[in-house]
Amino acid sequence: MVPDRNVGCGHVGCPPYDRRVLPLATLPVDVLKRVFGYDAFRGEQAEIIEHVTGGGDALVLMPTGGGKSLCYQIPALARPGVGVVVSPLIALMQDQVDALRALGVRAGFLNSTQGPEERREVEAAFVEGELDLLYLAPERLRVESTLRLLDRGSIALFAIDEAHCVAQWGHDFRPDYLALSELHERWPDVPRIALTATATAATRAEIATRLDLTEARHFVASFDRPNIQYRIVAKNEPRRQLIELLKNEHAGDAGIVYCLSRASVEKTAEFLVGQGYTALPYHAGLDARTRSENQSRFLREDGVIMVATIAFGMGIDKPDVRFVAHLDLPKSVEGYYQETGRAGRDGLPSTAWLAYGLADVVQQRKMINDSEGDLAHRRRLSQHLDAMLALCETVECRRSQLLAYFGQPGEACGNCDTCLTPPETWDGTVAAQKVLSTVYRLDRERRQRFGAGQIVDILIGRRTPKVEQFNHDQLSVFGVGAELGEPEWRTVVRQLLAQGLLAVEGTYQTFLLTEASREVLYENRTVSLRRDPPRQAKQRSRSARAPQAELSEEAAPLFERLRAWRASVAKEQGLPAYVIFHDATLREIASREPADLTELGTISGVGENKLAKYGDQVLEVLGGSAPAQSPDDTALPLDP
Ligand code: ADP
Ligand code: ZN
Repeated sequence: MVPDRNVGCGHVGCPPYDRRVLPLATLPVDVLKRVFGYDAFRGEQAEIIEHVTGGGDALVLMPTGGGKSLCYQIPALARPGVGVVVSPLIALMQDQVDALRALGVRAGFLNSTQGPEERREVEAAFVEGELDLLYLAPERLRVESTLRLLDRGSIALFAIDEAHCVAQWGHDFRPDYLALSELHERWPDVPRIALTATATAATRAEIATRLDLTEARHFVASFDRPNIQYRIVAKNEPRRQLIELLKNEHAGDAGIVYCLSRASVEKTAEFLVGQGYTALPYHAGLDARTRSENQSRFLREDGVIMVATIAFGMGIDKPDVRFVAHLDLPKSVEGYYQETGRAGRDGLPSTAWLAYGLADVVQQRKMINDSEGDLAHRRRLSQHLDAMLALCETVECRRSQLLAYFGQPGEACGNCDTCLTPPETWDGTVAAQKVLSTVYRLDRERRQRFGAGQIVDILIGRRTPKVEQFNHDQLSVFGVGAELGEPEWRTVVRQLLAQGLLAVEGTYQTFLLTEASREVLYENRTVSLRRDPPRQAKQRSRSARAPQAELSEEAAPLFERLRAWRASVAKEQGLPAYVIFHDATLREIASREPADLTELGTISGVGENKLAKYGDQVLEVLGGSAPAQSPDDTALPLDP
């Protein structure tokens, strides 16, 4: 649809919009270039945008970082009326709106964090058609007054972000999302676009049904995130392993460290601070102010490490998160994929690293056994965990396995740990039989609590006080496993648990045989086990890195100067640094050293608004002198 030049219909370029900065842009590809500074659409963006701009409904499944936002932002600009975006993330709306305003887009939001006056202003702007995009918390739509407000304005489209929140059996269910099915009844002519990065076939079907989008066109992008290197390592000393990762590969980088419990979040954050890192805790037990302060520092400052439970992260669209580390096993592949997907939205090389060990399996199996809820619920939790364990224990490419989980084909990727250092397998049948026989014998003393440690001590033949106390040195299996050491035996037990050849039971965390273990003991079932590869100092293969990641010797100091300049501007304006320019943009500027504004304008991520606002300053930084408008020259290390 081509907007009419002469009416103030609310899209880019129309009065009362500031024409100086953003002349009328009609074709989506013009909006892309002029507003966002990008040259070409990615993947299916162009098709989605055309479909929605033309008034069609869409369900969009794209991985994090795939570029979902443009799929509704550009149609909202190209269609008459205001694009209404429903998002569950009220804490992030301010940042989202700030980022759009920095691009010259007229955006506002309505949520519970606002005072009445600010709310009235936004409402008036909406009714007058003086907004391009309006962000709304889903609970607002349950309020009749909001619905009446929407009736008074002209709506370009509804975008339902994080659409998986409508899936009741998903991990992010929000009851308020259920009401969104009514949008269609009330505004049948307004196109709707639902977007999510979480997407097994089951979740997708549930989203389509609940949001009344079964007739909508479905766009399913590849879920591959080639710039993320997936690595899952055997956990032995998790903190030391984490420090090694940070020191060797991610010095000075922003990242997220996920832990299962609030207590371990606190302890890990303290530990990292003690080691000289800027690390902040985030979990649901902290008061709202601390949470929002920590989140805001993570977004605004460079190189902050967020140590968090899974309460943190949805909708965090910080593009330069360089690593996501898990110190505990995620409960499902969906969760793992969602969390790791927060790394590397900017497309630059990033690491998804998980340390996982026997205790994780025991703990999670136990949590499921002890959990409330009916059998079906527990079975579903078990299935989720099994899929996660299969990913951890695989000897195949991690990425292919992840993609297969989302129903997509994939080949060995060359950028995951199993591709880079293929793990060996070995015939573990005899070892498995030894473990299972030991469990069988201990099973007779079920009321005692014997963990994996006792099993290993018996197999190796260690006369510990606990072994002697229960006369376990009298068992026929005592000492039959001298061929392996303790860590190897723990690995065997872990894999037996992961493969369902062994179970753990409730209160006493005792190990139990399963139907499948009987097959191994009595029916010649063979067991193939994975040998954990030795620790690697550094796994990143050069060829797997994005080309723009390696800066030349001349460009590197320039990049640092640009970053310092960006930090001072961000601070002055109270914006996250990436709202000024992304790392990827600064890297390209540093490498290409544009000589003038025209050349600067051709760099990806430099739209017209930003060129006008920051262009001269950037050129000055490149020229080696401090930009005149910089508020804080001391923040600029001009002479390295
Ligand atoms: P998602 O919401 O799918 O996680 P975003 O919409 O935040 O992803 O986009 C991820 C990053 O990719 C953002 O930094 C965005 O500016 C950038 N991006 C999106 N589309 C393009 C494009 N066509 N060309 C270049 N960069 C893009
Ligand atoms: Zn691979």
